[in-house]
Amino acid sequence: MAIYDVEYLGKRDVAEGTTEFRFSKPVGHSYRAGQFLDILLKATPGADKMSHVHGFSFVSSPFEDHLAVATRMRDTPFKNAMRDLPDHTPVQIDANFGDFVLHKNEAMPAVYLAGGIGVTPARSAIAQATHDHSAHDITLFYVNRDSSRAAYAEDFKAFAKTNPHFHYVPVYSRGAGSEVGAESGHLSAEIIRRHVADIARPKWYVSGPEAFVRATRALLIELGADEDNLRTEEFEGY
Ligand SMILES: Cc1cc2nc3c(=O)[nH]c(=O)nc-3n(C[C@H](O)[C@H](O)[C@H](O)COP(=O)(O)OP(=O)(O)OC[C@H]3O[C@@H](n4cnc5c(N)ncnc54)[C@H](O)[C@@H]3O)c2cc1C
Repeated sequence: MAIYDVEYLGKRDVAEGTTEFRFSKPVGHSYRAGQFLDILLKATPGADKMSHVHGFSFVSSPFEDHLAVATRMRDTPFKNAMRDLPDHTPVQIDANFGDFVLHKNEAMPAVYLAGGIGVTPARSAIAQATHDHSAHDITLFYVNRDSSRAAYAEDFKAFAKTNPHFHYVPVYSRGAGSEVGAESGHLSAEIIRRHVADIARPKWYVSGPEAFVRATRALLIELGADEDNLRTEEFEGY
C-alpha cells in the first residue's frame, strides 16, 4: 500500500442520506474495480488514533477521470469531517487494498448481491465491465428499504440498456410499487431462483453491512451455491 496526495473535488447526494465524495486521480496510481482505499483526514488533537482514518470501496471505475467513494451519512466524527471538507482541500489516501474484483473468465457468470451502501464495489465493477464491452453475464440484486435509498439506480438502469449481458434486479423490502423489474420483500431463495437459472454456475459477490453479508452467505449456501465461488466484502462499522 502507498500514500498518495489527492485533491478533494466535492460531493453530491446519490440517494436519500447518501453522499458521494470525489477526489482527483493521483499521478502513478491505478486500481482495479472492487478494491478499497483508506481516506486519511487531518487528526483532531486528542482524538482516537484511528478516528481520522476510514476505509471505503472505490465506487468510481478505473476508466473514469476521478476517484469517488460513497457513504450513508450519519452523525459521527469522521463523516462530519468529510461533510465539512471545503472543496479543493488536500487529502491523503492509502491505497489499494482488497481483491473483491470481478473474475477474469468471461464464460463464468457473476452475481452481485449488495445490501444498501454495499453497492459501491458492484457499481465500480459493473461500470468498468460495461465500458470494456466485457462478455461477462452479470446480475445485480440490489437490496434497499425502498427506491429512495437506492444509490446509483440511474447508472444501473443505463448500464442495463447499453450492456446486453447485465441484468439489474432492485429488491425493496417495503415493496416495489410500480417499478418495472423490481422485486418486493426481503432477498429470498425464490427471488434469487427467479433470476439465476443455474445456482451452481456463477461466482457470487456479496457486499454490505456485516448482518446482510452473513445472512446472504447462509442463504446462498442453503440454495446450493458453490462455496468456492462465494466472495464476500463486509463493511465494518454498520
Ligand atoms: C473493505 C471495506 C470497505 C468499505 N467500504 C465502504 C463504503 O464503500 N462505503 C461506506 O459507507 N462504508 C464502507 N466501509 C465501512 C467504513 O469504513 C466505516 O466503518 C463506516 O462508514 C462507518 O463509519 P462511521 O464514521 O459512520 O462510524 P464510526 O464513527 O467509525 O463508528 C464505528 C462504530 O460505532 C457505531 N456507530 C457510530 N455512530 C453510530 C450511529 N449514529 N448509529 C449507530 N451506530 C453508530 C458503528 O456501528 C460502528 O460500530 C467499508 C469497510 C470495509 C472494511
